[in-house]
Amino acid sequence: MNEVVRAQADAPALFVYIPYCASICTYCDFNVYARRADEYDAYVNAVAREIASRAQNIPAPRRARTLALGGGTPSLLSAAQNEKLVQTFRAHFVFETDAEWTLEANPGTVDLENLRALRQMGFNRLSLGVQTFDDARLKQFNRAHTAADAYAAFDWARRAGFENINLDLIYGLPQQTLAEWRATLERALAFQSEHLSLYGLQVEARTVLQKQIELGRVPPPDDDTAAQMYEMAVERLRAAGYTHYEISNWAKPGFASRHNQTYWLAEPYLGFGAGAHSLWQRERYENIRAPRQYMQRVMNGASAFAAREKISRAAEMSEVMFLGLRLGEGVTWARFQERFGVDARLIFREPLALLTEWKMLCVDDERVRLAERGVLVSNQLLWRFLLEDDAKT
Ligand code: SF4
Repeated sequence: MNEVVRAQADAPALFVYIPYCASICTYCDFNVYARRADEYDAYVNAVAREIASRAQNIPAPRRARTLALGGGTPSLLSAAQNEKLVQTFRAHFVFETDAEWTLEANPGTVDLENLRALRQMGFNRLSLGVQTFDDARLKQFNRAHTAADAYAAFDWARRAGFENINLDLIYGLPQQTLAEWRATLERALAFQSEHLSLYGLQVEARTVLQKQIELGRVPPPDDDTAAQMYEMAVERLRAAGYTHYEISNWAKPGFASRHNQTYWLAEPYLGFGAGAHSLWQRERYENIRAPRQYMQRVMNGASAFAAREKISRAAEMSEVMFLGLRLGEGVTWARFQERFGVDARLIFREPLALLTEWKMLCVDDERVRLAERGVLVSNQLLWRFLLEDDAKT
């Protein structure tokens, strides 16, 4: 894994959560709803109102580093609805001319005209939820598109002028073989996209997939095979010239996602929309999850926040470590020192010593990062960087 692009540390990343999808995938536990096209207009109006109202609490000039519309499926919105969000942001925030603007899209929900409109609005990065090229699997997981839709969407995106495209793929599916995964990777590489995000399937509680597994209709995914798939991807994408800059993310040089980097560096971001999260001035915010309740509250002039919590210094330090260690560049001692005025090697002496002894971390004079074997089991390691709130920091 390797270096990521540095962003402006003081300007927030901006995010809108769109809680609508064409259908609900069997493995998905997100805050998403299908068959609600009649409420998109009202939702966009509410988000625009939330943006305007929260911007009033931030002194001008309100600089922003990136913008992302995610979900859910933002590409279900019409060009006019997306335009309304864009205009609202432009009215209240100042973006650098080359700011990264990402739109998440699912194949089957975009066409050439719509993509041209999005490109003209200022979106310069498209993230396509391809997942797999096997139509039977797409159907099995209730995805609302086919492999042919993915090819068409990518072609239209290029023709519309998107020079920075991410493909999302999923691995570790029940009964998925290594050969099947290799074929998926090869088909994805043939697109020559600038970025690839690979996610291992997780069986989340209260999903249709979990129920299907419980009832014996679908076999559970196999963790060992999923680990082999990950290792296969690491090797194959390295050979194809991609930089593995975050546990689940690969990019061609210069195309690491600046927006997502904000989250991994625990830097400020403002999230708008139902269930969106924000990290702002050492406080964490969570919006009301249910879209209808969210709209009602916002349109009545009330706050969208369902929860708000101050972040202690200890919690912030922990977060910088366990999020930063997801990155290929890891956590640099100098940057930690600059942010907190103390040496991370003193604060985290114990986990650093233990995990280095286990050969899960690589530590040198400049930084700490996950060793290759540590990446595979990172979920079981990184909690060791959690500090008690009353720890001496
Ligand atoms: S498209 Fe994405 S967000 Fe929507 S249901 Fe499927 S996995 Fe969930």
